[in-house]
Amino acid sequence: MNLITGDLSFIPLGGSGEIGMNLNVYRCDGQLLAIDCGIGFGGNDNPEAEVMTPDPYWLATRRDQLVGLVITHAHEDHIGAVAHLWPQLRCPVYASPFAASVLRRKLAEANLAHEVPLHVMPLGGKLDLGPFALSFIRVTHSVPEPQSVAIRTRYGTVLHTGDWKLDPDPLIGQPADLEAFARLGEEGVLAMVCDSTNALVEGHSGSEAEVRRNLVPLLRPLKGRVAITCFATNVARVESIALAAKAVGRKVALFGRSLRNAEASARECGYLQNVGPFISEDEADDLPDNELLIICTGSQGEERSAMAKIAADTHPRISLGEGDTVIFSSRMIPGNEKAVLRMQDELARGGCKVMTADDHVVHVSGHACRDELRKLYSLVKPRFAVPVHGEWRHLQEHASLAREMGSTPVLVEDGDVLRLGPLAGNEAPDVVEGVPTGRLVVDGDRLLPLDGGVMSARRKMLFNGSVVASLAVDRSGRVLGAPQISAPGLFETTDQEPEQIAAELSRAITELPSNLKQEDDALRDAARAALRKALGRRMRKRPTVDVHLLRV
Ligand SMILES: [Zn+2]
Ligand SMILES: [Zn+2]
Repeated sequence: MNLITGDLSFIPLGGSGEIGMNLNVYRCDGQLLAIDCGIGFGGNDNPEAEVMTPDPYWLATRRDQLVGLVITHAHEDHIGAVAHLWPQLRCPVYASPFAASVLRRKLAEANLAHEVPLHVMPLGGKLDLGPFALSFIRVTHSVPEPQSVAIRTRYGTVLHTGDWKLDPDPLIGQPADLEAFARLGEEGVLAMVCDSTNALVEGHSGSEAEVRRNLVPLLRPLKGRVAITCFATNVARVESIALAAKAVGRKVALFGRSLRNAEASARECGYLQNVGPFISEDEADDLPDNELLIICTGSQGEERSAMAKIAADTHPRISLGEGDTVIFSSRMIPGNEKAVLRMQDELARGGCKVMTADDHVVHVSGHACRDELRKLYSLVKPRFAVPVHGEWRHLQEHASLAREMGSTPVLVEDGDVLRLGPLAGNEAPDVVEGVPTGRLVVDGDRLLPLDGGVMSARRKMLFNGSVVASLAVDRSGRVLGAPQISAPGLFETTDQEPEQIAAELSRAITELPSNLKQEDDALRDAARAALRKALGRRMRKRPTVDVHLLRV
């Protein structure tokens, strides 16, 4: 079956059946459109990986058909992989002014600023890319300028919602353009590809304005230093915190590079106008405790963030302790729970009072809860519903809600090719083929497959350690001197085991048949096996093992 031309398909390469790493592709008559290109965190599941991206292999090998990459908003799970993956895609990129500003900084850090054709799209604008006629629709979320994308094609219209909620008072920007959604619904929508993050949560996600109202009464009675951590790009939240600080007589300092970058992007786009310049990190430390409020990065327990350093008391500029307060104005992204709780625990041990959204109104979610989902379905009335941006239980709950609202849900996961058109009469969309997907680990300057050899070895080393033996032998295979064993992460430098293992290895090789000892490969294999055996016997562990053989 050849489906390369003459179809409309939705092909998620990341972000469906998982949280994070969004990379969505639409195919129409052989042309491809990508929406969002984000990162995910290794978290509890993949401790050997800090940051991951979707594997764009399938898309990269078809980049001559790729008409562009559209960014819905400036969150890391939608924008964070552009600088890593663009060199494989090399297509024009389209983003709102704020998202473009955030992206420009990332591209500059990757030395790509002058290579990437980055086009700034006005809010609510229109864009024709090959067979895709796009119109952007204003929504609300926890970042400035989030947009849904209506994709009109000759097979029908798909609404790609991106991340959204219906905040009646978003503080920055206007409420969602419900009239545009209603008009689209009247026009007829084939499918809605929609955010599932809060599909398990009844009711409404609330408003940024509630957080703002609650901050002043929360901060007023606090003595000592106050630190608040939130997402760097939540500009409305940063503004609320700054205004509340002013109201209670505290000056604000930003700690963390991503916060300072987001502030620069926000001011560049005309936001934060009612907030004066923040004080520097140096000035912060000189202020009396009860006149200081710091906003810092690290709400997800990220290891090198300002908050992680403060919690570990290794921050070069600032320390918190007895009588100080730390407020988590954020939620934990699934997978980061361990790191966040450990950090909160460290802060409490240092004497800080820790406040979270569990017992104070210091955060509202940026994603639609069930009442908001119902509202959008009632306006857009899509024939088919494609839940994305969630794990399976979110997708499934979203699907049943969609069914209640009169849409036919279709569940997909990364790598599925969902054929949305052309459809005959009562035909429903179907997954017609699969394409290769995967995850890449950002490892320094390289991208390595998560299931490839290097990362598998890294995973094994993390738990079992690694041992290298260096071995000099003469022509006949007689061991010269004592083999050297190095095993950082397994032995202390003072341990006796490496010497004993070296002796055991020497003995084992001496006992090998002499024809085997004259062959490098065979000798190396035998040495590895002997080493593995010695380690297993002494330590009851199976580290990765290697032997360097030097024949002299
Ligand atoms: Zn988002
Ligand atoms: Zn997202």
